[in-house]
Amino acid sequence: MNKALSADARATLLEQQLTLDEKIGLLHGHTPILWHERPADFLWTSGYVSGVPRLDVPALRETDAGLGVTHPLVDERDGGSTVLPSGLAEAATWNPELAREGGAMLGLEAHENGFNVVLAPGINLARDPRGGRNFEYAGEDPLLAGVIAGNEIAGIQSQNEIATLKHYALNDQETGRFVADVQIDGSAARESDLLAFELAIERGAPGSIMCAYNKVGGVYACENADLLNATLKADWAWPGFVMSDWGATHSTEMAAINGLDQEDGEEFDGRSYFAAPLEKAVQAGTVPQARFEDMVHRILRTMFQDGVIDLPAMPGLIDYDADGAVSQRIAEQAIVLLKNANGRLPLTTNITHLAVIGGHADLGVLGGGGGSSEVVSPHGGTALSIPHPEGDFAVSENYLGVSPLAAILQRIPNVQLQFNDGTIPEKAAAAAKGADVVIVFATQWTSESVDAPNLSLPANQDAVIEAVAAANPHTIVVLETSGPVLMPWIDQVEGVVEAWYSGSRGGEAIARVLFGEIDPSGRLAITFPMSEAQLPHPQLPGYAAMLEARRLSGNPHAPPPPFTIDYFEGANVGYRWYESRKLTPLFPFGFGLSYTTFAYSGLKVEGGRTLSVSFDVKNTGMRPGFDTPEIYAMRELGGSQTVRHLIGWNKVLLNPGETRRVSVTADPRLLATFDMAAHVWKVAAGPYRAQVGRFAGDTVLSGDARLSAYGIRP
Ligand code: BGC
Repeated sequence: MNKALSADARATLLEQQLTLDEKIGLLHGHTPILWHERPADFLWTSGYVSGVPRLDVPALRETDAGLGVTHPLVDERDGGSTVLPSGLAEAATWNPELAREGGAMLGLEAHENGFNVVLAPGINLARDPRGGRNFEYAGEDPLLAGVIAGNEIAGIQSQNEIATLKHYALNDQETGRFVADVQIDGSAARESDLLAFELAIERGAPGSIMCAYNKVGGVYACENADLLNATLKADWAWPGFVMSDWGATHSTEMAAINGLDQEDGEEFDGRSYFAAPLEKAVQAGTVPQARFEDMVHRILRTMFQDGVIDLPAMPGLIDYDADGAVSQRIAEQAIVLLKNANGRLPLTTNITHLAVIGGHADLGVLGGGGGSSEVVSPHGGTALSIPHPEGDFAVSENYLGVSPLAAILQRIPNVQLQFNDGTIPEKAAAAAKGADVVIVFATQWTSESVDAPNLSLPANQDAVIEAVAAANPHTIVVLETSGPVLMPWIDQVEGVVEAWYSGSRGGEAIARVLFGEIDPSGRLAITFPMSEAQLPHPQLPGYAAMLEARRLSGNPHAPPPPFTIDYFEGANVGYRWYESRKLTPLFPFGFGLSYTTFAYSGLKVEGGRTLSVSFDVKNTGMRPGFDTPEIYAMRELGGSQTVRHLIGWNKVLLNPGETRRVSVTADPRLLATFDMAAHVWKVAAGPYRAQVGRFAGDTVLSGDARLSAYGIRP
């Protein structure tokens, strides 16, 4: 307990006191709901790993936490958990400081519930907009995802918690996640999905990383020496411990030798690989003693490093007002204004006739997707819970928090209101007719374990919006979706607002943006396609085979037979794919409108070892507002260019007429290629072009500078 010593030195001293059984105990974890020999100090939640009570080493009590502490100790009416906006919403803030605040809020609520391990954040790149867990992740760009997740990790760990970055790696779709084998070129992986992890690890230093269910290059992620030993532990020199996803361990010797440190949720594996079998393997020498000691050391040094031994998590009082305010700030800056024709927004408080339609807007906001990230006891309860038996879990679609309708009416209490539930197009259209303005709320709920079958709004919401827009041209659609949806009615409506899953105070945040109390400042962290035909995989890999397996077996959860996912698009994920194929999406990555206008000028681009870009941003409109100028760069190749890469951004709040100079220096890896054979990032010599714009593909300013050739050892 000598805090003057390093975490490594303290762990080494502790290891000398441990018996073999005590060490083995640290290396495998349980799922409390499926485990029959629960000790007194377990909590009903995601995971539990025994500590060493004799020496006051606490058990690891792990909570899922994609959007909040999923299973708090107290129930929803007594307290429950504050629900944060989804991960994809958090990424849409483009605000690292807010991500850190969200992480700290989550870490503190976990700590105050007695948990010391937070199983978040997730950073799998959104390669496919149908991905069932995209809402848990941070979008399609490695830099944006890495910065947002890295800051969230730092926030979580500022509360004496261990954060877990997941799911390593390339678990980018849910369909067939247990049987899929991802094939991707090694360099492309380093420049995309793995780069997102690398950047997040550098910024946040997570204590733990969860390896994924799928195979990568023919080998399960949790026994994959390339991913775990060579990349994560050797190249990135990451000192933490790798935990398996629940049911992702498949061997003892191979997993241990290739880099897995802890088997978690072993009940999902159907047997334990890291309890008795590991003990035997160590005694027989088939798992080297040094590797075994390294597994133990990584766990204990992390427990010291992240403060879970010095400041044990204990039930405490949660400040829901403060936590709700954090959630609201994130929601407000996450909301993306996609369309605003005729300056319909912001709304004025002079509206006399208002129609509000659909989305259970009278009850609350959609509080998240289904699966392990679902907050089962949200603070304030759920107003409506719709069970969805089709997932692998007992999951439900929950509406919670301040209802958007209540928040709107608070601002215009005397308005004549028509509310319609938005299930029948004719009735919705009748309610909309004659109103000064109509606000339609549309929802898309997705879940872990299943991908969205397509990108259309579910049920007949498109028909409802079309009927409403035909009845009243002053229609605004507020989307509460996991991610991208198609908008066949886009030309018929005046406004579109993407509010995502917006958390405990989402209703309030939506109202503030609609009425212009705050400028809409979210920018898309994922491209919205025009149709599924634009995607690298118009048919989701394994999806048809899965439906067939389910039809033949009659088992609604049957997986497809093992299959490969060929990420032939390589590092051209998201906007880079659209650019490489010259496709125009419905809304590009980085897109989002403001209620004011901005101008950019005075570009300066400097080269050398990397690009440094600076320019002035001026608010040229009449209202204060946020702008997020985005800087992209690519290599000039005599008339043509390589595919652009986001190299930085700055989010600035400016008053009318105010100007601020913004500067960004590129991480050179974003301009380089990863040479697998030479095992080095290579920056090629020559001219590079920097572009300043409002979204991917937009060029307001552009300038060139030369870089010299050099290599960067990973
Ligand atoms: C999920 C993980 C989660 C774990 C524990 C798995 O099904 O993939 O993200 O942390 O369960 O609940």
